[in-house]
Amino acid sequence: MGSKTYRAVQASAPGKLELVERELTTPPSGTVRIRVEACGVCHSDSLTVGGSFPGVTYPRVPGHEIVGVIDEVGAGVTRWLPGQHVGVGWNGGYCGQCDHCRRGELFACETGQVTGVSYDGGYAEYVIAPASAVALMPAQLPRIDAAPLMCAGLTTFNALRNSGARPGDLVAILGLGGLGHLGIQYATKMGFQTVGIARGKDKEPLARELGASVYIDSTAQDPAAELQKLGGAKVILATVTSGEAMSAVQGGLAVGGTLIVVGAVDSMQVSPLMLLMGCRSIKGWYSGTSIDSQDTLAFSARTGVRSMNETFPLERAADAYARMMSGKARFRVVLTMGRSN
Ligand SMILES: [Zn+2]
Ligand SMILES: [Zn+2]
Repeated sequence: MGSKTYRAVQASAPGKLELVERELTTPPSGTVRIRVEACGVCHSDSLTVGGSFPGVTYPRVPGHEIVGVIDEVGAGVTRWLPGQHVGVGWNGGYCGQCDHCRRGELFACETGQVTGVSYDGGYAEYVIAPASAVALMPAQLPRIDAAPLMCAGLTTFNALRNSGARPGDLVAILGLGGLGHLGIQYATKMGFQTVGIARGKDKEPLARELGASVYIDSTAQDPAAELQKLGGAKVILATVTSGEAMSAVQGGLAVGGTLIVVGAVDSMQVSPLMLLMGCRSIKGWYSGTSIDSQDTLAFSARTGVRSMNETFPLERAADAYARMMSGKARFRVVLTMGRSN
């Protein structure tokens, strides 16, 4: 049998995405090979495509919202089998032996890898990933729809479930984009009283459809004052990419409340007085590791949380990437692998 090839879209140089044919290789020890069914296109892919992630080398295939089927496992892999439906997210595996791993801080592993940065990611028909990066996917989850749950879903789900908010608490989701439209759904399904905050009255129907019981239009109302009228938010999950919008909402925290930042911004204004007078805090949240992804997928399958996506075939990855970067996609962009293998 001759060597088999597969299609991939690689960043060959900063800003340059191109479709290439590659030779399929067997998975090394400790890894699995996955036949990719779909891969979400995430803003963090720009760290690979743009070359700003420290140490990224070319060519490199981006993509860390991968769903597919295991088709071969490497030596020493005991927990995974060919035929299993799985996902791989941003966390590209950890060693289990360094001090961070020994403390359970797997995401901070000293030799931790990032999918689509440290090794080739999911803009491809096949991916080889460390076994520690793999999450099991429930059979009933529509898999192509599910790809964004591997990053956008995981990030919002895991931040909210670790936020300290309890069922019935007032939780606000700042932003109604790729992350925010999932955040509202998760917050609602977790039993929080969910407030959607976004720019414009036109977003209100969708926010309510996704589960928000209150909607605040930040272009017409002061979100901090509106939240205080409701007693203050126990948690505000900031999914926007505007430091100004984050700064404007912090005054809406309840006593003991927490602003959780998952939108990557360079800076924001903080009011130390607001923090210390009410024992409030501002913190960031790392998305999660493979077992967190697995929990995200299982929760989403059970409760009906779904990402709203625009899909593109793999060969149009450059268009898909441009669409994502435009910020106009509603709400996530997903690549599908058209050719049968
Ligand atoms: Zn991502
Ligand atoms: Zn480690």
